[in-house]
Amino acid sequence: MANELDTASSSGADIGTSNSAINTSSSSASTAPATTPSASYKERLHISEQPWTLSNWYKHLNWLNVYLVVILPIIGFTLAAFTPLQTKTALWALFYYFMCGISITAGYHRLFSHRAYSASPVVEVIFALFGGGSVQGSIRWWSAGHRVHHRYTDTDKDPYSVRKGLLFSHIGWMLLLPNPKNKGRADISDLNSNPIVRWQHKHYLPILVFMALVFPCIVAGLGWGDWMGGFVYAGIIRVFFIHHATFCVNSLAHWIGEQPFDDRRSPRDHVITALVTFGEGYHNFHHEFPSDYRNALKWYQYDPTKWLIWTLKQVGLAWDLKTFSQNAIEQGLIQQKQKKLDQWRRKLNWGVPLEQLPVIEFDDFLEQSKERALVLIAGVVHDVTNFVDEHPGGYALIKSAIGKDATANFNGGVYDHSNAAHNLLATMRVGVIRGGSEVEIWRQAQRENKDSTLTKDSNDMSIVRANAQPTRTARPFQGAGAA
Ligand SMILES: [Zn+2]
Ligand SMILES: [Zn+2]
Repeated sequence: MANELDTASSSGADIGTSNSAINTSSSSASTAPATTPSASYKERLHISEQPWTLSNWYKHLNWLNVYLVVILPIIGFTLAAFTPLQTKTALWALFYYFMCGISITAGYHRLFSHRAYSASPVVEVIFALFGGGSVQGSIRWWSAGHRVHHRYTDTDKDPYSVRKGLLFSHIGWMLLLPNPKNKGRADISDLNSNPIVRWQHKHYLPILVFMALVFPCIVAGLGWGDWMGGFVYAGIIRVFFIHHATFCVNSLAHWIGEQPFDDRRSPRDHVITALVTFGEGYHNFHHEFPSDYRNALKWYQYDPTKWLIWTLKQVGLAWDLKTFSQNAIEQGLIQQKQKKLDQWRRKLNWGVPLEQLPVIEFDDFLEQSKERALVLIAGVVHDVTNFVDEHPGGYALIKSAIGKDATANFNGGVYDHSNAAHNLLATMRVGVIRGGSEVEIWRQAQRENKDSTLTKDSNDMSIVRANAQPTRTARPFQGAGAA
């Protein structure tokens, strides 16, 4: 934040990691030669790697950010206790809140960080000024950090990694001095060559003070005589709310909601986050398609930032709005859905795979059928002993099939069994018959991996489509009956 941008940089640090770094370091130090004095070793450690003590706690903090993010709001809320809130000032504070907030989302984020569209210099200057009024650092610093966040999401180099805790990703990363070892790099040459970005970066502090505190105070003062109210409500308290609204993109949007595109990393989609963050809440989509000018895809989803960019295009102030193709978007959706399906499939009993079943001679099948209820269907032997009494078609029919090849009867000769029946049957498999022609062909194809209709899922499980169990055969009696 603010102007010590290059040093504050785009890397984060947290207490947990720092402590563990200390522990591993000191244990290796203790095994090191005695010539390495531990005191000087500790001096070489960055403050973020040292444990918190009563004498060094203040060195862990980024004090400029502590003033702006913690102490300033405390002053603001204290002053508010003595400053009556006028209706006009409340409306102005709300309007100015929206102006500054959306300059971050449409400007800092989608325009400057992601180049999701191009905009007229007039628009860029407005975003530079009102974004400055949000007190979130210069465009150059903010965008560099954000590009690093996208590049290294959830790793140690992610400046606001949610893996270090919700509070860290929300505000901690800003208040603590980051470990320089975790500094991630991102290309910002395009920003360095933008004169508006350079100008804003160079004069960031006066822009901040004027836009965040002086300007809202002047408008309320000259407008309706409420100088103090403008300063307190449209200035300090508004900044507090913008801070926490936009911090929610780093915390809440990586914490609550759905992951319809990819669940390997933390970004999530949630309407509450969208409502709080001017539409930045569809963050799973955003991390998959970062240079899309949209965050919400559906017209009814709340994304005022998208609506603003679209409106700017209609009046000729923005152009070249980037979108990923519907094809690419649906591919991501399907792949994630497929992954979930595969996980679900894995939990179910599909029967022992045919290739793992023992091969039984036909004579052995006949012999064993005398002791247990074995039924042969399409070359697969099933033990239906525990099912005989439960057979929906009655005891007699299933009894008559024991010790026989019931392929035709099962597939329409007596009753054309349902897909569910074939699935249930598969769970009773105990072997395959040598020379059982259909199943032999099927097994051969499986071994040679030629059978395109029975493919494997991501868990290496065979996908058995509806009506595609190997016990399902062509209905042998259909034509005969009609003729
Ligand atoms: Zn993110
Ligand atoms: Zn982004």
